Amino acid sequence: MPDYDVLVVGAGPAGSVAAAEAKRAAPELDVLLIERDPFVGTPVRCAEGVGDPGLREFADPDGAPWASRKITRVIILAPDDTEVKVAWPDVAWILDRTRFDAALAAQAAAEGVAVHVATEAVGMDRTADGRWAMRLRTSGGEETVRARVVIGADGVETMVGRWAGLDTRVPARDMESCAQYVLDGIDFDPDAIYLQFGDHIAPGGYAWLFPKSERSANVGLGIVALKSDGRNAREYLDEWIARRYAGGARTGYTVGGVIVHHTLKRTHTDGVMICGDAAHMVNPLSGGGIVNAMKSGRLAGRAAAAAIRAGDTSEARLASYHQAWMDLLGEAHVKYYRIKQALADLDDAFFNRLARTVNGIPSHKRTLGRVFAHALVRHPQLIPVAARFFV
Ligand SMILES: Cc1cc2nc3c(=O)[nH]c(=O)nc-3n(C[C@H](O)[C@H](O)[C@H](O)COP(=O)(O)OP(=O)(O)OC[C@H]3O[C@@H](n4cnc5c(N)ncnc54)[C@H](O)[C@@H]3O)c2cc1C
Repeated sequence: MPDYDVLVVGAGPAGSVAAAEAKRAAPELDVLLIERDPFVGTPVRCAEGVGDPGLREFADPDGAPWASRKITRVIILAPDDTEVKVAWPDVAWILDRTRFDAALAAQAAAEGVAVHVATEAVGMDRTADGRWAMRLRTSGGEETVRARVVIGADGVETMVGRWAGLDTRVPARDMESCAQYVLDGIDFDPDAIYLQFGDHIAPGGYAWLFPKSERSANVGLGIVALKSDGRNAREYLDEWIARRYAGGARTGYTVGGVIVHHTLKRTHTDGVMICGDAAHMVNPLSGGGIVNAMKSGRLAGRAAAAAIRAGDTSEARLASYHQAWMDLLGEAHVKYYRIKQALADLDDAFFNRLARTVNGIPSHKRTLGRVFAHALVRHPQLIPVAARFFV
């Protein structure tokens, strides 16, 4: 049975960063990164948008082949189509995740991590000497490897967490079902992302357009099935596209789930940590999880290296990983989750009114902070939202 110090399951952003960080922190360790799919980064189940500062902690997007588009504006559409252009405090990027995820995995390999694609984890058991034995399915059949620490970076459908006895269940109200097309030959502002809210458009979520080039974009939406009128995400999306982007060529289609919850109560146990989507580390307001996945992967990789060096991979030792994540972003996500719940009580008419009053702010002063402050004054209904955020 081959032995590894660290086994990372899933070569998404969380897993590749975790593996690279573990090896960088302790080069003497044997680190294995496995990916179920035959190609890292494919299929893409993502709108591919990231903020500039978070991205730059891990990679330089200027001129990178995996950066599709630089974004400098956000256009929010109220349910009645009133447009609000908001000055974005930072630049954002639309990635090419096929290339981006592959570049992260290549970076891990360059650090000395063994990367095995078309290799699926199918189950794991605790061994008598306190390691984990992981059963893998490959094109050559089944094999088992042993590891001191397993990092589960296996995304929304995580099994590693469950196998390790962690509670990874998602409340139905916090699971968004998404559908997205790549649309070619449509007109939009190529420097802006578009977001539209509305119960008839995307109940419980929102619709988006994220430009990939001048006339091509990821166009999708997420809904909470419990709030829908019986239609699925694709049916809502087809209606939105027919109204706004009819005539575009559909050159790609994807579906996927986004967990808009807060971080799991426990993301670790003896010899196991889970990170990224697997641990519900998505921003519950925006649904963005790429940078969070990388940040949590970095913490998990470092924690694994330090624990192995100290000869202690117990749950108590790995609790420092969970705490570090909660300090970094987990506590903030709890607050965002409360805002999400408060916003869910407001109806389309409220957002239509808000859009009109916000448009009264001169456009160069229309930052998100000012929009919020203005909204509080004009719309006292929002005060409980703010109150819930600050308590
Ligand atoms: C439609 C849609 C749009 C989105 N848009 C955005 C966006 O614009 N911006 C943003 O920041 N986030 C977005 N997200 C969320 C974002 O995609 C995720 O948060 C991010 O990919 C999480 O990274 P991860 O590494 O945790 O998981 P993933 O990227 O899901 O990677 C997990 C990997 O594990 C592999 N795997 C799973 N099980 C096994 C197994 N048993 N054995 C081996 N390998 C396994 C999978 O094949 C996969 O490659 C979107 C999500 C969806 C569905």
